[in-house]
Amino acid sequence: MALASTANSALDFGPASALSCRECGTRYDLGPIFACIECFGPLEVAYDFGPVTREEIAAGPTNIWRYSKLLPVPGNVETRPNLQPGWTKLVKADNLAGELGLRSLYIKDDSGNPTHSFKDRVVAIALEAARNFGFHTLSCSSTGNLAGAVGAAAARAGLDSCVFIPSNLEEAKITMASVYGGRLVAIDGTYDEVNRFCSELIGDELGEKWGFVNVNLRPYYAEGSKTLAYEIAEQLGWRIPDQIVIPVASGSQLTKIDKGFRELIKLGLVEDKPYKIFGAQAEGCSPVSSAYKAGHDVVQPVKPDTIAKSLAIGNPADGPYVLDIARRTGGAVEDVNDREVVDAIRLLARTEGIFAETAGGVTVGVLRKLTESGALDPEAETVVLNTGDGLKTLDAVAAEARPAAVIRPSLAAFRTAFAN
Ligand SMILES: *Cc1c(COP(=O)(O)O)cnc(C)c1O
Ligand SMILES: [Zn+2]
Repeated sequence: MALASTANSALDFGPASALSCRECGTRYDLGPIFACIECFGPLEVAYDFGPVTREEIAAGPTNIWRYSKLLPVPGNVETRPNLQPGWTKLVKADNLAGELGLRSLYIKDDSGNPTHSFKDRVVAIALEAARNFGFHTLSCSSTGNLAGAVGAAAARAGLDSCVFIPSNLEEAKITMASVYGGRLVAIDGTYDEVNRFCSELIGDELGEKWGFVNVNLRPYYAEGSKTLAYEIAEQLGWRIPDQIVIPVASGSQLTKIDKGFRELIKLGLVEDKPYKIFGAQAEGCSPVSSAYKAGHDVVQPVKPDTIAKSLAIGNPADGPYVLDIARRTGGAVEDVNDREVVDAIRLLARTEGIFAETAGGVTVGVLRKLTESGALDPEAETVVLNTGDGLKTLDAVAAEARPAAVIRPSLAAFRTAFAN
């Protein structure tokens, strides 16, 4: 069933052809909607892809728009003011691999994005949807990184922004969410409560003409994570890795990386091969890994308590799909505690010179744990994601990363301090 729409003739979503329900398959015209009227299932973007070649992609810009023919964006997207995220480094991590006993390991380092987290990718796609639908304000509920990414994207695009965060976030994330000049509202509550509040706001006239990137624009927003799959495959020389470790907050990123790999196979851009997807959570917010370990299909919501605040979603919308993908691909979902997160941040910094935020500590910690348990194949080509910058979560390591000594500026003082 396609719903009649009045304004659709003016819309330009490139190759995207419809929204389709992930549960029952009902199709809808492209619009600012996110749930199926028939079954309340989540909607996702469906496409009519034209021909795409490796050469054409390679000749494109060094940002996510090199894949614009695979995304719900207009053909001229490159020329529109935006932050041009993506094409971040895929680092061959031989030192870390050696330490863990892995043969071939890469880190996809998304701290290199304009606002220092992977969220710039998803916001860039949501921004195009907001423009298409004529929204004047860009908004979101955020665990921190998204608020900064929305503020910056709106500033560049000349839109207003109003972002909502839980009030207990890290200082750096609060500052970044505010500095770009939009409105920042801190809510005394958990992320899940902030998210519920935003859903109410959408139904109210206050929120009319607002594009909530991860609520009413969520189907478009989510597609931005596919670019991680495309980049990893292209940077490996058009090859899908054997196994990949991905952080799980709402689970959107993980499900769309899987979608991206499947599209590349279907379009003939990479060889068809099996790959295993592993989800990573913090123990203090591990509803998906708990369900995985218990063999459940449903995810029981939890109240988060972890230093990995960017992953602290207690009621993850895409949790059941993460379980499906981990099981279907032969992967797993695992969690690590806060101590292991800090140790992993320091391990990555010490071995590869990459300072990750707590979410990166979660993925590297899970990489270590699953390698030790034998769930990850040490001979297989492995990719681990770092999705954010350690400068945003300094408190996680600040107490342990201190000067070796504090001395007066003299050789004698230095000799005394390092006498042994
Ligand atoms: C938002 C976020 C994620 C993943 O979020 P999903 O909701 O699972 O898509 C991962 N890492 C960081 C640093 C984030 O900010
Ligand atoms: Zn449905």
